[in-house]
Amino acid sequence: MSLVSLSVSEMRSGLLNREFSAVELAQAHLDRLSELDPSVKAFVTVDPETTLAQAKHAQARIDSGDATPMLGIPIALKDNMVTKGMRTTCSSKILENYVPQYQGTAASKLESLGAVFLGKTNLDEFAMGTSTEYSAFFATRNPWNLECVPGGSSGGSAAAVASQMAPISFGSDTGGSVRQPASLCGVVGFKPTYGRVSRYGLIAFASSLDQIGPFARCVSDAIDAFESVMGRDAMDSTTIEASYDASVARTPALNGKRLAMPRELFSDDISPDVRAVVRDALDAMSNSGAIIEEVSLPIIEHGVSTYYIIAPAEASSNLARFDGVRYGLRVDGANSIDMMTNTRSAGFGKEVQERIIIGTYVLSSGYYDAFYAKACQARTLMKRQFEEVFTKYDAVICPTSPTTAFRLGEKLDDPMALKLADFCTIPANMGGFPALSLPCGLANGLPVGLQLIAKSFDEEHLFSIALATEEVLPKIGMPAIA
Ligand code: GLN
Repeated sequence: MSLVSLSVSEMRSGLLNREFSAVELAQAHLDRLSELDPSVKAFVTVDPETTLAQAKHAQARIDSGDATPMLGIPIALKDNMVTKGMRTTCSSKILENYVPQYQGTAASKLESLGAVFLGKTNLDEFAMGTSTEYSAFFATRNPWNLECVPGGSSGGSAAAVASQMAPISFGSDTGGSVRQPASLCGVVGFKPTYGRVSRYGLIAFASSLDQIGPFARCVSDAIDAFESVMGRDAMDSTTIEASYDASVARTPALNGKRLAMPRELFSDDISPDVRAVVRDALDAMSNSGAIIEEVSLPIIEHGVSTYYIIAPAEASSNLARFDGVRYGLRVDGANSIDMMTNTRSAGFGKEVQERIIIGTYVLSSGYYDAFYAKACQARTLMKRQFEEVFTKYDAVICPTSPTTAFRLGEKLDDPMALKLADFCTIPANMGGFPALSLPCGLANGLPVGLQLIAKSFDEEHLFSIALATEEVLPKIGMPAIA
């Protein structure tokens, strides 16, 4: 039996039944990491000493009779989640040597539940991108085909789980950065409702859209991971205490569920092979009693353009704090303005600089009403059109990504093509809705993801549908590398 291929619940029972120790489990994952990460390149930072110390501590808790759900479970965190004493880079030169003095809420919760940190995973710089090629350090590769991208921006976290270097990882999703890489790497990825998980200690990209969410190899593990980090947090005033019934979440239900299939997300913008696999998945679901109907959500057409006004606007403001004074890199200059200019032009990559420029432009006087205010109106319309659908349907169902994983470098000269990769995922961020991607088949040997979107704070029903859907979908297996 290979420890790295177990599900989280199998790991938990193995630990509690003393079939293996938390240290053995952590070591098995560290071995896996040393074997595969030189080719996958999922991790920016690993610190085996800390990992093994945490595992020892977890084992001591197990030995004393503690049975907290995450105890001894190895996890990986995207490197924009602040970890005390562990380098947190955002895959940017500007934070290359930044070692935080504090820990974010999600990481703290996981730590107190006894999870064992394997390390920090690669991302597109400041979570801006869809392929992880915009990391200032190196590109991560897709475990299904090392010549392909893992998706992004949480590509490292997705690749780590797909290649069994970690059973669970966390990413952040602003416009699709958990769901899209999950889809491209053939794993489950979940973006919670906005306000469900604290953003304290998540280095901000676009604060009104960002949410931390888990990756896992099955829906049940993703639920475990989500439940470990959810809840109101005094450190993030956008979190609220909303009801959540864990037993509903764990009860698979598809029969009689009403699912809406937006015509706009089955259009020619979605590649024919992805559409075919997703349609087969929908057939399997309706054979199990789901009632699937086509609806129209015309506002979806404006999703990408609206997002690329709102997200850069917020980023331009959030990234103003990286000025050479308070954190990370500092490149000196003749005066303070020169110092800041030198620091920011050396520290930020091209994509990040472009977004700061666009964001500053759309917020500037004279353009604010024409661009930013209009985008906010479009966002409200998008939220309303979806909410209208949720009055009649339990969930919206659609592809997660318009294509399967593309080749490294293939879209680098075409930034627009990279941005269109979020066509199907952006609406959930705009409306704040919870959304989950699960693998539903392969097209030319590469995974295809199916996305389920539910109304805000209805995670429990979304999970229940996802669990039942997972049962009827074909199993894609593991990439050859694993
Ligand atoms: N791909 C989108 C972007 O580049 C979304 C990123 C994200 O969700 N963090 O902005």
